[in-house]
Amino acid sequence: MLSAYAIVLTPTILLSGGTIYDGSGSKPYIGDVRIQGNKIIAVGKLKAAPGESVFQLKGLAVSPGFIDAHSHADRGIDEDPLAVSQLTQGITTAVVGQDGGWRKPVREAFKDLAAYRPAINFAIFSGHGGVRDAILKDDYKRNATPAEAFAMQKLVIDDMKAGALGLSTGLEYDPGYYSDTNEVILLAKGVAPYKGIYISHVRDEGDKAFESFEELIRISKEAGIHGQISHIKLCSAAVWGRSGKANQVGLKQGITADVYPYTFWQSTMSALSASRDWANREIWVKALSDVGGAQNVRLTRYTHEPNWVGKTLAEIAKLTNRDAISIIQEILDKTNGPNGTGSQSVAVTAMQESDLEAFIASPRTMFCSDGSIGGTHPRGAGSFPRILGRYVRDRKVITLQEAIRKMTSFAAETLQIKNRGRLRPGWMADLVVFDPKTIQDHATTANPTALSTGVKYVWVSGVKVLAQGKATGLRSGKMVRRDQPDLSAQEESSAELVATSKHTHPESLCCGEQ
Ligand SMILES: [Zn+2]
Repeated sequence: MLSAYAIVLTPTILLSGGTIYDGSGSKPYIGDVRIQGNKIIAVGKLKAAPGESVFQLKGLAVSPGFIDAHSHADRGIDEDPLAVSQLTQGITTAVVGQDGGWRKPVREAFKDLAAYRPAINFAIFSGHGGVRDAILKDDYKRNATPAEAFAMQKLVIDDMKAGALGLSTGLEYDPGYYSDTNEVILLAKGVAPYKGIYISHVRDEGDKAFESFEELIRISKEAGIHGQISHIKLCSAAVWGRSGKANQVGLKQGITADVYPYTFWQSTMSALSASRDWANREIWVKALSDVGGAQNVRLTRYTHEPNWVGKTLAEIAKLTNRDAISIIQEILDKTNGPNGTGSQSVAVTAMQESDLEAFIASPRTMFCSDGSIGGTHPRGAGSFPRILGRYVRDRKVITLQEAIRKMTSFAAETLQIKNRGRLRPGWMADLVVFDPKTIQDHATTANPTALSTGVKYVWVSGVKVLAQGKATGLRSGKMVRRDQPDLSAQEESSAELVATSKHTHPESLCCGEQ
């Protein structure tokens, strides 16, 4: 019981009369939530206390803040520490360090992220590619020696001690591509004593998707840790329609996956083919046929020919009177070749709607955006409202309480994020209030950063960071460590760091555990 004395000391907030989705997946009910400081202190039928600030939320859904299980929001948070594209999706925690790509020790990464004083929480995975890069440097196109693999494992262990959630790999990308399974198993074993998990952008999401899932299962089994497939998809003609089998494998083997709600992926052009034999036309003939043709490949970034950006390979071929394959080869040579400079990316429509819906419906999946802030794929600004609008309300693929369970408690429990993901007394006051009747994504390929609508309020650690659908300017995000206390940005950063960061706004409040 909370004493009246405590109420006087720290004001409470009452979220009144909303429809409570507590994150467990159980049936919603009309009720109230009381917050004090950074914690939820009561959930149920509550009466407003004298002087308490009350939010009337009739007709709106009240749920735990959403956890973006595979996020790249560390990209762009320096430009927008308010993370408006995440808050308008109801995301309160972004899990970064994905695809193995993390380049910094997690200890430093937490410091860097905290120095931006973000409005959302961050949790981090240790990246296989990052530690591989640190040890092998430019000489990475080979297996690591045992000594090198142990040196990498030591870096992963350091990251776990700093509070990483586990190990991530991106085996389709350099430098992870050149590692063998045993190297990854050794690194994953370094995670096991800390009870971390293994997540992977698997080696091949197309023809060899099932072999790649098997590799993930082997790695997690041999290391004795939980395994999760990152942004699960089946993206070549040979595996289209096999989502049922993939879901069965997941269920049987106890693995989980995250999924984003779009039938097109975005990555670098090299992800079109698992082969590195880029001069060979045949691999591109197959790659294009696997995704249904050059009209399904849209260039979303290319620093050498900005006027090609936004066009499909079929359109560029017509425009330049050339064939699509020579264009692919030229782009790869100019960016990723021996003297390559600049960058490129493509959005490729390569998944089937029916497979996507089967993955969204699976009880073993949670949701992700796979997006950055200000990125060129609409998933960065639209994923969570798109699930709640298109797939829950309009297409009725799953119920609202099940979608919320997957966005909250299932993600928190699988990723081992403590005290978040449920509306429970004593748990962190990360909450989202949205209108299930109107929630909608608006981001498109043409306008990938268009903000979603329908999320009305967001609290992060008891601080109202979004009100009436607009960022309040308050930034209360925390660095979420596995099995360690969260630290607010103030606690995280030294006074010096805060004072010198060009991104800190001294007038903004950063509340948290004081
Ligand atoms: Zn990925």
